[in-house]
Parts: sequence; structure tokens; C-alpha cells
Amino acid sequence: MIIGSHVSFKNDGLLGSAKEAISYGENTFMFYTGAPQNTIRKNIDKNTTTKAHELMVNNNIDINNVICHAPYIINLANKAKLEAWQFSISFLKQELKRCEELGIKYIVLHPGSAVSHSKKEAINNTIEALNEVINQNTNVMILLETMAGKGTEIGQTISELKEIIDHIIYQKKIGVCLDTCHLNDSGVDINEFDNYLTEFDKEIGLPKICCVHINDSLNPIGSHKDRHANIGYGTIGFDNLLKVIYHDKLKDVPKILETPYIEEYPPYKFEIESILKKEFNSRLKEDVQNYYKNL
Ligand code: FE
Ligand code: FE
Ligand code: ZN
Repeated sequence: MIIGSHVSFKNDGLLGSAKEAISYGENTFMFYTGAPQNTIRKNIDKNTTTKAHELMVNNNIDINNVICHAPYIINLANKAKLEAWQFSISFLKQELKRCEELGIKYIVLHPGSAVSHSKKEAINNTIEALNEVINQNTNVMILLETMAGKGTEIGQTISELKEIIDHIIYQKKIGVCLDTCHLNDSGVDINEFDNYLTEFDKEIGLPKICCVHINDSLNPIGSHKDRHANIGYGTIGFDNLLKVIYHDKLKDVPKILETPYIEEYPPYKFEIESILKKEFNSRLKEDVQNYYKNL
């Protein structure tokens, strides 16, 4: 089982991220290179990066399973303000460079929001942008995330993702990141997850799935809301999430939790314990509070 969570990059970059992941008992993790809402970024520090790599080797974290997430404000789908679109392209190029410096293989990207464009135009804008970002020397794989369909988001159906992926020139550099909350909110019944995988395999191909975000959802199927819940505390439920996490066809794919903090405390240590035990934790809040208050 390759499992981890979203962690911070704030303290010593990758070194701080790795330390945080280890403190939760994880064997992988996901980070943003800065705040997800903005594009202010510090230079990558070589020294702490080397230390992070050593720490990971010593703690059974394979760097090939570690995931970066591009900031939300990158929007490749909206070309209405040409300058903003071009900035998104150049910023994503810089993110890929940072990933390379860090030794990271995967970056998750939201396919974008159409805003005033039609869906078709928006998809074409994203394709054009991605083909400008990805070239033959690109060493990082961009994983398009399945979206909830909030607002004018694109990439909420298999066919939308397929349309983008089919038009990417360098096929080896494009993949998909499933998000269980987003799938639920987009209208996929996780109870019938096998049907989804079958269709995905037929249309895009299972090898394209390189990461899965494991989140419960606060809202019902098809709500297009995108609000994450703790594992077993949402409408998807513990057993359905386990079906995804332990799915044979996704065995070697990194699973990343992006569940909400409980008060100011991270829940990941206890959520991952309950996943590994395959036992729903009905005392998650108490466990998290007791642990971090006494730390
Ligand atoms: Fe995301
Ligand atoms: Fe996600
Ligand atoms: Zn989400």
C-alpha cells in the first residue's frame, strides 16, 4: 500500500514535507511548492533537498511515488485574458522545473475552468497550453485531476479528459489523478467503482492513472460541490473508500488523503491507521485531539 497525505512545504521545502509525512506514518506524500492559492515561490534549496532525499531513503519513502500539486490559480482553459493564460503556461513550466530540481516525477493539475468560453473552446485552450508546456525534454508527468464540476470546471467526465489526453503530443508525459470526492460530486457512484474503472480503461486506459486522491465527500452524488470530508464521515462512506484504496487494479498507484483538519490538527496519522486496519475510526476527532494536545 502506497499511502500518504497532503503535507506542507513551508519549513525547509521537501525536507519539511518528508518529516511531516513520516510523523504520520506515511510512505508517500503530496505537496504544493508554495501556497496553493498564489504563485509566490521561493527558489529550491539544494542542500535541504539532498537531506530530504536521504531522509526518505532511510524511511522507506520512494521518491518516485511522491506527488506535487500545481496551484489552483493556474487556468489553462481560459484564454479570454491572453496575458493571464500565458502567465499560467509560463508558471506551469516553472513548476515542472522545480519538480525536476526536487527529483519529483508527477505533478497534479486541475484542467481548468471555462469561465466565459464554451466547454469545447475551454478544452481546446487546455490542449493548446499543455502542448506548449510539454516538450520532448520534459521529465515530469502532468496528471489531470478528475474534477467535481464546480462552476465552469472542465475535466469532470471521462470523455472530457479523454478529449484532452488524446490531443497531447507527448503521450508519455500526460496522465490522470482520480479524486474520490470529485468523482462522487461529478455523479459517479463509488459503490459501483468497478464500472467506472471499466469505462476508464476502455476510453483512456488504466495505466494513465498515476495517483488517487482519497477523500470522503460532504455532499451527495452529482452535487458538483467539491467539499472534502474525513474518511468514513461523508456520503461515500468507509467501505466504498476501502474498495478504491484496496482495488487490485490500482495496487501500485499512490493514494493521497486531502481530508480536512480537525480543528487545527491534521487527521492523517489516524485516518491512515484506520485504513490499514480496515476499521472505521468512530473516535477520530477524540483521537486526533488527544494526540496533538498532548504532544
Ligand atoms: Fe486537486
Ligand atoms: Fe484532489
Ligand atoms: Zn477537491
